[in-house]
Amino acid sequence: MSTVGKPITCKAMVARAAKQPLELETITVGVPQAGEVRVKVIANALCHTDIYTLDGHDPEGLFPCILGHEAGCIVESIGEGVTSVQIGDHVIPCYTPMCCEAQCIFCQSPKTNLCPKIRSSQGKGVMPDGTVRFKDSDGNDIYHFMGCSTMSEYTVLAEISCAKIDTAAPLDKVCLFGCGVSTGLGAVWNTCKVEVNSTVAVFGVSSGSHCSIVLLLTSFLAQSNWLTSFLLVTNSLVPSAWQSSKEPKWPEHPKSSPWT
Ligand SMILES: [Zn+2]
Ligand SMILES: [Zn+2]
Repeated sequence: MSTVGKPITCKAMVARAAKQPLELETITVGVPQAGEVRVKVIANALCHTDIYTLDGHDPEGLFPCILGHEAGCIVESIGEGVTSVQIGDHVIPCYTPMCCEAQCIFCQSPKTNLCPKIRSSQGKGVMPDGTVRFKDSDGNDIYHFMGCSTMSEYTVLAEISCAKIDTAAPLDKVCLFGCGVSTGLGAVWNTCKVEVNSTVAVFGVSSGSHCSIVLLLTSFLAQSNWLTSFLLVTNSLVPSAWQSSKEPKWPEHPKSSPWT
């Protein structure tokens, strides 16, 4: 039976309050309004930002809310005026979506991707029209989170928050493009601007860190016939490594670097 045009009752993990365990609840997900897309969430990853908000550190954290912003989804239905995706498309929700409009100075600038189009409503836990699409079993509102709220079987996104992907891509793996992979990519290519012959230390063991390593390896292997030195410093290894030697030995560089 088609669910198009009807509210959907489904399960979601609801964050009722800071520092409290998530609650598995039956919720209602409203019909997508103009410019919105309702998706079935197939795969979810857990990001530190979800924990950060649940722990009460996020100044924009609102409760009750549905956390989650790293997912692989299938479009269930679309609201009025939506043209970039259709029912059945596979999408990755984006928490920093770009409107790409000609008059948006942020989207038109090569220096940033921080488009303000829906940023203010997103930060208030609501859809761009100022209302929510989630209701709990008592009919009370539940806030959205980062414009994604993917810890639910169904969620509603702004159209610009949907990145359409190839349906052949496995959603349980490409869900990491929603945050971890893009964060690692941005760290390597945009923030650090790592170049061939650099010696790189990657701190942490998150999906972003792992992705940084994969990107570094693939980028440099593609550009040169030798491998840049890598030192992976995990949170757990740092203290013992430093305790074992007052002057830790860094890997020797394979050849002279433009940086040294
Ligand atoms: Zn994240
Ligand atoms: Zn924009």
